[in-house]
Amino acid sequence: MSVLIRIGDVTVERVDEIVLPTSVRWMMPDATREETARCSEWLKPHFQNADGFLLQSIHTFVVKTPTAVMLVDTGVGNGKERSGGIPQFHHLNTPYLENLAALGVTPEAVDYVLCTHIHGDHCGWDARLEGGRWVPTFPRARHIFARPEYEYWESVAPEQEATERLLADSVRPVVQAGLADFVGVDHVVSPEVRLVPSHGHTPGHVCIEIESRGVRAVITGDVMHSPIQCAFPDLPAALDRDKEAGAAGRRAFLARYGDTGTLVLGSHFGAPSVGRITRDGAAWRFDVALDVVEG
Ligand SMILES: [Zn+2]
Ligand SMILES: [Zn+2]
Repeated sequence: MSVLIRIGDVTVERVDEIVLPTSVRWMMPDATREETARCSEWLKPHFQNADGFLLQSIHTFVVKTPTAVMLVDTGVGNGKERSGGIPQFHHLNTPYLENLAALGVTPEAVDYVLCTHIHGDHCGWDARLEGGRWVPTFPRARHIFARPEYEYWESVAPEQEATERLLADSVRPVVQAGLADFVGVDHVVSPEVRLVPSHGHTPGHVCIEIESRGVRAVITGDVMHSPIQCAFPDLPAALDRDKEAGAAGRRAFLARYGDTGTLVLGSHFGAPSVGRITRDGAAWRFDVALDVVEG
């Protein structure tokens, strides 16, 4: 589905890699049916289907400012050895680059690749296989990593085979090519785009804020994986390795952006992936923002 989100002078489009319906209990194993059923009123039809499955995807946000083309997170990538992890990620073969080209974005046209965190579904297309070697996919782009995030994963890689593999086939090729910039967690990328610290899901996780002509938006990364988590920020999330830290990161995010009118763009939320967070009793709800969506 083609979606264009307008934020002042900035546009954001999505390139899908994988679209997955997931069950509520898979996302939040401790959730009860009674508790979650009442969220269907605002989740359906964009973020939950008629059968109750959450609509989620792995996608890149293509951010076009007046002066730069930026990609926020680059999915899983083709041909990656991911046996032992999430089976859908193993040896993917999708037309991701063709879909990017359909938005007028060739690999050479990308100025920046921003990474919310170093997980396998967020930096995979940073490198692609060519002649048996992993080489940078976006040969001109500056690849922006929060320094604490990169240093954390390099520090644990010797004991974690999957992490070592991810760094080797996705991250280090751009580092070795001199295309990586390691920055602070509040780094300003351009007049409209900056990083915001949001550790929890991972130790150096960042969100991406976009502001133009008085309109503010934020890209979630994996602070949450589905809008349903606005209603249950404290429930342990299956995809947070450190459950306490993940919940604390979610609470901080909701306190910063809830009831502010900020457009919230979900890195795993189904199309159109954008909404606003408002107070709902003791927690929050998420309402799709069709007013900023074209297409
Ligand atoms: Zn993640
Ligand atoms: Zn993710």
